[in-house]
Amino acid sequence: MARVPFIAGNWKMHKTVPEAFALLRALKVKLADVEGVRVGVAPPATALRECKVALKETKILLGAQNMSHEEKGAFTGEIAPGMLKDCGCDFVILGHSERRTLYHETDLDVTRKAKTAHRTGLLPIVCVGETLAEREGGKTKDVVQTQIKGSLALLTPEEARATVIAYEPVWAIGTGKNATPADADEVHRWIRGFLDAQFGAGTGEAVVIQYGGSVKAENAKALLSEPNIDGALVGGASLDAEGFAAIVLAAAR
Ligand code: PEP
Repeated sequence: MARVPFIAGNWKMHKTVPEAFALLRALKVKLADVEGVRVGVAPPATALRECKVALKETKILLGAQNMSHEEKGAFTGEIAPGMLKDCGCDFVILGHSERRTLYHETDLDVTRKAKTAHRTGLLPIVCVGETLAEREGGKTKDVVQTQIKGSLALLTPEEARATVIAYEPVWAIGTGKNATPADADEVHRWIRGFLDAQFGAGTGEAVVIQYGGSVKAENAKALLSEPNIDGALVGGASLDAEGFAAIVLAAAR
């Protein structure tokens, strides 16, 4: 079955509830008639419930930017997967490079979270990607392989197929630099082969693989036209309705 492109906006630590409402109001108008693409937004946790209400009667999915792998208990400051479901979340971003770098999340943390996400009925977007030093050292594939292997380690083949992977070269996130469409496509193609080896033939073809790293209206079409790039995880450009809508329209098939 053909993979449906998926554009997800990661708002990071931006937008109060009134600001979120304004952004979603504008986005709903711009995306009212769009077909052939899945669209999601991941506001900060403080705005999730209100955003769910604002998204009523649209097809725009709601996501969280992180979660605990624990279901409940004495974990001060954490948010349980069931609480995200309760807020109306459809998906959750896991293992973003900012979580890995600034909060020392490991592949083991990510795979536990991905497992719990599936159990809870949340679609996990698992982020992987190499640093500039790793790329320049010719280690891109080794790094990405280790991250995917570790981050999906606890998943069954069925869960792996139902996981979205976001390939986000760390050096491209928020920097205005990005991989060339051909370079990004080559990594995505290679990831598909690795998924087949790890989880069985056909897995690679089934998995939606987003690209992330300074995707914007100006470069979206070229990236999203590549055969192995199934959408984008968008940071900065998702904070503006016009820019984000242009990326979504570039992905629509
Ligand atoms: C991200 O944070 O996942 C991201 C890709 O950010 P940006 O689009 O700003 O590079």
